[in-house]
Amino acid sequence: PAPLYCVANGILIDSVAENGYITYTWKVHYPINTYNATFYIGNYRKFTIPYQSDSSQFLMSFFVLPYNLTKAQTHFTQVIDIINKYEHFYGAYPWPNDGYKLVESPYEGMEHQSAIAYGNRYKNLSYLGADYIILHETAHEWWGNSVTATDYADIWIHEGFATYSEALYVEATQGYEAYLRYLLVQSIFIRNKQPLILPRSVNFWDYNDGDVYFKGSLVLHTLRNCINNDSLFSDILRTFYRQHRYSFATSQDFLDLVNAKTGQDYTPFFRQYYYNRSCPELQWEYYYDAYQGKAFLFYRFQKANEDFSMPVRIKIDDTAYLIRPTTQWQKAEVPIAKTLVINSNYSYVAQKHTKYFRK
Ligand SMILES: [Zn+2]
Repeated sequence: PAPLYCVANGILIDSVAENGYITYTWKVHYPINTYNATFYIGNYRKFTIPYQSDSSQFLMSFFVLPYNLTKAQTHFTQVIDIINKYEHFYGAYPWPNDGYKLVESPYEGMEHQSAIAYGNRYKNLSYLGADYIILHETAHEWWGNSVTATDYADIWIHEGFATYSEALYVEATQGYEAYLRYLLVQSIFIRNKQPLILPRSVNFWDYNDGDVYFKGSLVLHTLRNCINNDSLFSDILRTFYRQHRYSFATSQDFLDLVNAKTGQDYTPFFRQYYYNRSCPELQWEYYYDAYQGKAFLFYRFQKANEDFSMPVRIKIDDTAYLIRPTTQWQKAEVPIAKTLVINSNYSYVAQKHTKYFRK
């Protein structure tokens, strides 16, 4: 009914007023997941901001309730920088012909393609330096809406990648230390009740378990630590996006790409983090042998698959070293330490300081 306005995915191609009603026709130019198709009806006020970058050009439109218009006109300008960063990480915004929209909704948020629902009270998170809902839901335009998991079993490709995108944004805006702190906060929410990859072919998604978000994000971060080459890691993310945009992807596709790009076999890494619900536990002991005047580090992984192994960064008095624990005890001579930090770049492992070797 007039004068209410109707917003949907895509662009408005027609509106006809008749007998006190208005019929709105919206057109979507791209493939779209059924759960992303939506419409909103409200007493909306609209404003627009043009977006332009090296890779794309389109109109951003914002639909908000009248009493929020002034707030929104300031608050939503952050979208420019967010889209700019994501284009830099992954590739061009997927839907230039449909534009980008934020539409005020009575619920917190939802990644409806090119017409994201926004209901987060126009508030930034101080340690994020941005509005969490805008940051997270916008990342879904790349991960979830453009690259879609074939099965809910692989839903971490939507949620884990979107959640990791938040951390990449923090790194790009506040630096690497802030990125690590943000990931540390995410890791607190991991429950390890079930594996990252869930039962296949049965539409399974446990909405009460956030591991596909937070563990998914930490697995990407841990992979980045293992690869230990940031330009190669970001090439993997961009290539994975480019190969599967406007289409589907599986967790196996991602593993295959990592193996191809690195020339190494990451199968044991992913078998652990995809299918074993427990967090690998790094057991270690620093031992100073007064008789020899030498220091040793003993280490191994437990609560992990037998073939699991990955490099772990340690810091001895501000110098970083890599150790390569397996599930068998190893011993390395190390400098005599005043301070020792195990896993200094927060790979997703638990650690246990064991007294096993203490004499
Ligand atoms: Zn999400």
